[in-house]
Amino acid sequence: MSKTIFVDTSRCTACRGCQVACKEWHELPPNDTRQTGSHQNPPDLNPYNFKVVRFSEHLDGDTVRWNFFPDQCRHCEEPPCMMEADEHVKGAVVRDAKTGAVLFTRKTKKLSEAAFEKVRKFCPYNVPRRNPDTGFLVKCTMCNDRVSRGMPPACVKVCPTGTMNFGERADMLALAKKRLQEAKAKFPKAKLMDQDSVNVIYMLIDDPKRYYDCAAAPARGPLDRQQFLAWLVGPLKKSVDTVARG
Ligand code: SF4
Ligand code: SF4
Repeated sequence: MSKTIFVDTSRCTACRGCQVACKEWHELPPNDTRQTGSHQNPPDLNPYNFKVVRFSEHLDGDTVRWNFFPDQCRHCEEPPCMMEADEHVKGAVVRDAKTGAVLFTRKTKKLSEAAFEKVRKFCPYNVPRRNPDTGFLVKCTMCNDRVSRGMPPACVKVCPTGTMNFGERADMLALAKKRLQEAKAKFPKAKLMDQDSVNVIYMLIDDPKRYYDCAAAPARGPLDRQQFLAWLVGPLKKSVDTVARG
């Protein structure tokens, strides 16, 4: 069974320790940024930030509410990016059978710009980026090098608030359901996002749209029919397979 990260956003203080730990572990260079009126920095995922803590500010009556969302690849159970990449270059995107981590390989360099754009569009969370220096597609690796040696991902290890949790999928699903039940007392809108389809499961405490456009799939623009069906068929196919295996 896959490894899973459970992200309890009700506990996130937006300290950005996870964002920095990710950059550090992957030895990613700094970005040139400028103040744009938001504490969010950089403004989006990019080839040198596999993780970004998103800040979203709202007024609830007279109360200012800040929603924080430590964004990253969801390590989908049936990865749409892999399905699309396979159409162009076999092996460009793979899934580690032991951990469930979805990985972009060096073969991604062979993807044309048009193919890359298709792979990116196919991702319901707008995650894939292309490193202009190497030509490789890049994103969160779930720290597969750490995980395969028995260590948690760097972002989980560093998180001081209990927002980031890591373990076996069944354990993380159980924890997510327990936390959801507890959170509902204070945050009636609390919900788990796409938990049947992904291995980075978020618990939100507000409307997903009040975090950012891709907090939930398929919220990002209209996916075409093929993309939408592929996304829907993932969890469905899995349960059919499970039933067939008895
Ligand atoms: S979130 Fe996007 S990039 Fe990550 S596994 Fe899913 S489809 Fe691929
Ligand atoms: S380290 Fe934890 S608390 Fe800090 S921004 Fe990341 S998820 Fe939030």
